[in-house]
Amino acid sequence: MQYVSTRADASAASSSPQHFSDILLGGLAADGGLFLPTAYPQVTGAELDAWRQLSYADLAFEILKKFATDIAEADLRALTAKTYTKEVYKNVRKGEQASQITPLRVLAEEGGKKLLLQALSNGPTLAFKDMAMQLLGNLFEYALAKQDAQLNIFGATSGDTGSAAEYAMRGKKGIRVFMLSPHKKMSAFQSAQMFSLQDPNIFNIAVEGVFDDCQDMVKAVSNDLEFKARQKIGTVNSINWARVVAQVVYYFRGYLSATTSNDQKVSFTVPSGNFGNICAGHIARMMGLPIDKLVAATNENDVLDEFFRTGVYRVRKSSETYHTSSPSMDISKASNFERFVYDLVGRDSDRTRALFHKVESHGGFDLSGKPGSDGDEFKLVAKYGFKSGKSTHQDRLDTIRDVADDYGIVIDTHTADGIKVAREHMEAGVPMIVLETALAAKFNEAILEALGEDAERPEGFDHIEDLPQKFVVMPADVEKMKAYIAANTGL
Ligand SMILES: *Cc1c(COP(=O)(O)O)cnc(C)c1O
Repeated sequence: MQYVSTRADASAASSSPQHFSDILLGGLAADGGLFLPTAYPQVTGAELDAWRQLSYADLAFEILKKFATDIAEADLRALTAKTYTKEVYKNVRKGEQASQITPLRVLAEEGGKKLLLQALSNGPTLAFKDMAMQLLGNLFEYALAKQDAQLNIFGATSGDTGSAAEYAMRGKKGIRVFMLSPHKKMSAFQSAQMFSLQDPNIFNIAVEGVFDDCQDMVKAVSNDLEFKARQKIGTVNSINWARVVAQVVYYFRGYLSATTSNDQKVSFTVPSGNFGNICAGHIARMMGLPIDKLVAATNENDVLDEFFRTGVYRVRKSSETYHTSSPSMDISKASNFERFVYDLVGRDSDRTRALFHKVESHGGFDLSGKPGSDGDEFKLVAKYGFKSGKSTHQDRLDTIRDVADDYGIVIDTHTADGIKVAREHMEAGVPMIVLETALAAKFNEAILEALGEDAERPEGFDHIEDLPQKFVVMPADVEKMKAYIAANTGL
């Protein structure tokens, strides 16, 4: 299995295909594009049948080995077995089995319509990002030990990525984490989760700005190739290919748990921001998993919903990016979206490059096919199963209340975005699986507002806000950031 950049210039030597291990520790391709396999591996019906019986760890191994063809199979099996355990993903609801890793529960069944919830948030930081990040921590440790190398992870978070990365990398030999977050824009619980880590290899940096300012700084530093090489900078942002692949696994698990035979289809609704999670669903579908619809649910930051309704991709300025009650979806630019657009335009890297250069120069592009637009591929979107919807703060509160009343469980605001939008896309005969992307305890402010009572905290999470915190506050200044990194790596 080989990987190419979505912006590869076929005539340039730097665009030659690479292996999984070559791109594992990196982020963007040198040309600014994102890596994708030269062709998606396919699954057969016989494989799906066999996989119905597998544990999550064994299923992860079967899927990953199709992508990570240059890692020895025995090693890969050991890595997935070490990652997907009931001890790591232990924060399940009452009545759910931690050993299932991503338990699936039926919320409602009526008139042939079925609504299900797949719990992806039972890991150490109570959000779905642990699903991929815990594997990444083990993959990185494995790859670095082989090369006797070190890595300085530099990333941006609006909350969940950062804590997931830090909990995956804390104490790992040869790894430091420098994590930017928008100062005072995370929930108290999220800040406490990250800032209470005292491990000497973890550096929390609160930036005076919004999440996109943080993300722009990561891009600026990553584009300084000399600095990046000298400081051994890597990334764990949602564009990291291994993260996307790790997320493909739970779409298979969800499908296999919701069906009894491969002629059945399911749909997924995915609370979306940077398009990383749902991109994995797209890949699962391209591999042949019988997915009917992939529904992107956004909050008021509706860049993706706008595209899937109109064909116009229009990124927002920082000043147009709302600070909402589902903050992990507060993005103005969907960093993984380029992967889907590459497929949508027939894997034409020249077109993809031109479109995303236009994002930089003109703030977006238009594939609606209208006069003056940049293309007409919007008409092909349905072929890929994509639908979308959005929610408001009031929708989320109403949905949290409804779900508590009707099904007796408390969901978080991001999952509420998902359920609100999923209900608009339900079809008889096709189970709709909503991916639960965080537990309610992470966003207690909204739960209090919706239900008038605190969200239940899993064991061990009481009083984390009272723990001592370790972080620095910095302006959104790339040069100052570089100096801070260099001072702390000593490289
Ligand atoms: C990161 C995150 C999302 C958005 O996922 P993307 O991969 O960025 O689309 C949604 N919900 C929660 C809780 C998250 O942490």
